[in-house]
Amino acid sequence: MSCDSDGGNRVRDQSLLSAEVVSCDQAEDVNWTTSDHWLVIVDLSGTPIDAIRPGASGRPLIIVADGGLKVDEALTSPAFRDVEPDDIGVVVVDGQRVLGVWSGPELEQHMYPVPPWKEGPDSAGIPYDHIAAPGNLSGVPTIPHITRTCAYNEDDTTCMTVETFARKPPAMPQCKNSRQLTDHTFAW
Ligand SMILES: [Zn+2]
Repeated sequence: MSCDSDGGNRVRDQSLLSAEVVSCDQAEDVNWTTSDHWLVIVDLSGTPIDAIRPGASGRPLIIVADGGLKVDEALTSPAFRDVEPDDIGVVVVDGQRVLGVWSGPELEQHMYPVPPWKEGPDSAGIPYDHIAAPGNLSGVPTIPHITRTCAYNEDDTTCMTVETFARKPPAMPQCKNSRQLTDHTFAW
């Protein structure tokens, strides 16, 4: 009996795309549009807060997932509900270390033809009681979560407030509005 007997079925064992990690205080020096690989932006504590596709095309949905999770556990989590597989970049982490990005056909083949979240009730998937909140209990996989910056724009200033969500909210919450623009709801 081995704990690693199903090791090939973990998120970290998928074909991950290499990613360059950029601290948020250096992000302004990066030329996003010329990069040929994913860029993962982390805050000053090393937590991923956003990711940019090669060439900065589009605005993918970023889901942060622990590499130690089983693929099924990860894909049945609420973060993957009501989102389009071709629009997702999964930032795979081992603690504070970014292992790479799971995206494109390598991810889609696991979500098609029947996305796991369409098959079961809400209780399917991860046993929440045993999942640590982000940053807690090292060694315990954290639940996958969406990280998103607010796209609200006012007088050529984009809000950029970072929020994390367990899943895409059916109704957008009030934005925490870190740049103190006019009060607004979070702009997805
Ligand atoms: Zn905002």
